[in-house]
Amino acid sequence: MLCELPSFAYAEPSTVEEAVKILDIHKPYAKALAGGTELLNLMKDRVSGSSQPLPKVLVNVKKIRELKEVYVSGDGWLVLGAAATLEEVAANSFVKAVYHVLSEACSSVATQQIRSVATVGGNLCQRPWCWYFRHPYFDCFKKGGKLCYAVAGEHQHHFSVMNLGVCIAGHPSDLAPALLALDANIQIASVKGRRKIPVSEFYLDGRSQQDTVLDTADLIVNVQVPPTTQRRGMAFAKARLRDTWDFAMANAAAVLELDGRTCVGARVAMGGLSPYPFRLRKVEAALEGENLESSLSLYRLIKQAFSDAKTLPMTREKKNIGTAVLLETLCRAAGLPVF
Ligand SMILES: Cc1cc2nc3c(=O)[nH]c(=O)nc-3n(C[C@H](O)[C@H](O)[C@H](O)COP(=O)(O)OP(=O)(O)OC[C@H]3O[C@@H](n4cnc5c(N)ncnc54)[C@H](O)[C@@H]3O)c2cc1C
Ligand code: SF4
Repeated sequence: MLCELPSFAYAEPSTVEEAVKILDIHKPYAKALAGGTELLNLMKDRVSGSSQPLPKVLVNVKKIRELKEVYVSGDGWLVLGAAATLEEVAANSFVKAVYHVLSEACSSVATQQIRSVATVGGNLCQRPWCWYFRHPYFDCFKKGGKLCYAVAGEHQHHFSVMNLGVCIAGHPSDLAPALLALDANIQIASVKGRRKIPVSEFYLDGRSQQDTVLDTADLIVNVQVPPTTQRRGMAFAKARLRDTWDFAMANAAAVLELDGRTCVGARVAMGGLSPYPFRLRKVEAALEGENLESSLSLYRLIKQAFSDAKTLPMTREKKNIGTAVLLETLCRAAGLPVF
């Protein structure tokens, strides 16, 4: 629909402390504004409900220097400021060389124009890209209503087959699975101070109206990625309807610890198939200790990965799509040909 923006007050703090103070004073009507590629569209479409009031105060976080920085800390952690753009992360030569699962994930988001303004924090906090959620006339569960309209309605391509809750939208972020596979942490600030949580504890399941553990006045400061080693193979892959740009029908990220051809540790995560990005613990356990000698042996290890998937009438193909994306990711991470 994209109508005109409703009126709002605007703040441009220069420190994290100033930003969280403004967010706290005006909660729940204040929102952090980063690239605006999602927030401004939601406002233009008047997407609101009892658990999602229309913002009245936008707090631009892009002028906070700490949030813009991408650097390696003294103890070897990669730190991605929440307001760093996806293009800055994708094009960073250190990230490309050492954490290429991250640059692959960031490069696969949307288009270069969008990646040049969309940020790390905004990508992790995006709301469901579900047509019912984004239409002002549907007060669906995620906006504070009682019903999920997609279950009995349209739920093709971008909806879930794993971990179904009340909400069945597929989680859209391409960055989140890569950060899960890298075992990253998120630093969050509020008026009470700062805290750090693993990305694996950031997302709530599809039974919750909120998508993440963030309180309305919380601000993501940065994402912290642990040091990596030479012995790691890593990859990201994504299935989408259109190659130009599109959200993932399924995406996957894998970080494999390899001793020769033997997998001595694995972290594998997926998105697009579930209301939240998730680790595939059974696949990780199946990979550990295995000799990854051929693509076929990998296929045998993962072919049951979606055996407990619950498909709906329009999502039957997603088990096969998930298997294909997972296999491609693992083959590439293990240095095997993709078949
Ligand atoms: C055409 C199109 C195609 C797209 N395709 C893809 C795709 O293929 N893959 C994919 O992953 N995504 C895709 N996206 C989504 C895109 O990645 C997000 O819109 C973008 O990353 C949001 O970042 P932003 O900086 O613009 O966030 P904003 O729009 O500024 O904010 C989004 C939300 O995050 C919150 N927020 C922002 N920064 C912080 C912070 N530091 N702390 C707390 N909350 C914060 C805001 O308050 C708001 O609720 C697409 C979007 C569009 C419009
Ligand atoms: S899938 Fe989620 S976002 Fe879409 S209508 Fe159902 S509850 Fe709302």
